[in-house]
Amino acid sequence: MTIVDSEAETVLALDGIGRTYISGEVEVAALAEVHLTVGRGEYVSIVGPSGSGKSTLLNILGLLDRPSSGSYLFEGLEVADLDETQRTAVRGRRIGFVFQAFHLLSHRSVVENVTLSMLYTGVPARERVERARAALAAVGLEQRADFTPTRLSGGERQRVAIARAIVADPALLLADEPTGNLDSKTSDSILGLFDALRAGGLTIVMITHDASVASRADRSVRIRDGVLSEVGAAEHAGGHAQNHIGAGQWEGRP
Ligand code: ADP
Ligand code: MG
Repeated sequence: MTIVDSEAETVLALDGIGRTYISGEVEVAALAEVHLTVGRGEYVSIVGPSGSGKSTLLNILGLLDRPSSGSYLFEGLEVADLDETQRTAVRGRRIGFVFQAFHLLSHRSVVENVTLSMLYTGVPARERVERARAALAAVGLEQRADFTPTRLSGGERQRVAIARAIVADPALLLADEPTGNLDSKTSDSILGLFDALRAGGLTIVMITHDASVASRADRSVRIRDGVLSEVGAAEHAGGHAQNHIGAGQWEGRP
């Protein structure tokens, strides 16, 4: 089994990460020389316009794609060099994903959607239902456990997706435009849930094109044409002046 350092104070460190797509004769540099460090318990947003490289970056952070160059340390482990089996193990056990389009299985119940995500996480089978129900309670959906997602509102579906993402107790929650399909009131309640998870010690990286969504994070990073830059504190208006939660205050399950 691949060993990550689950106590490491730095959850992820990208150093000179590049990603070039080759389509036909043309090379597209979707990411260039990206440097980014995220500490345990931090909530970081990455904001940029369409086509700026946000999803490319999220896919690399989530070990769904490999960089063309550079180093990626995830909980102290160089993951750029791992084989696919090892990367799948790290992804399944240590990273949770939330996407704009929810990606729930519509013919499975809510609780099954959450338990199925634990197949490759090392959570023992007998614990999965109990864990799923606890995660659903954490997002306020224990009363919907036996529904199918088709009977739920958009906001409720995203709550199920969040329960699914956190149920295996990941080190990192990655979200790609998680409020992109929601009205503003529902968005606000989903963002409130992210705030609560962050307060519980979870490390979050959220990708968005919306500056007001980005401002909910402790720190915001801008991406433009594949190049990353920090957003100044003054610009990060509306952001919370929360203290950084360091290692040791991590409380495990949200
Ligand atoms: P965003 O998520 O910010 O909208 P993306 O990361 O999807 O941006 O895309 C960044 C750039 O990389 C864009 O110019 C896009 O056209 C290009 N790109 C993304 N995926 C591919 C691919 N599979 N092949 C070729 N070019 C791609
Ligand atoms: Mg995108």
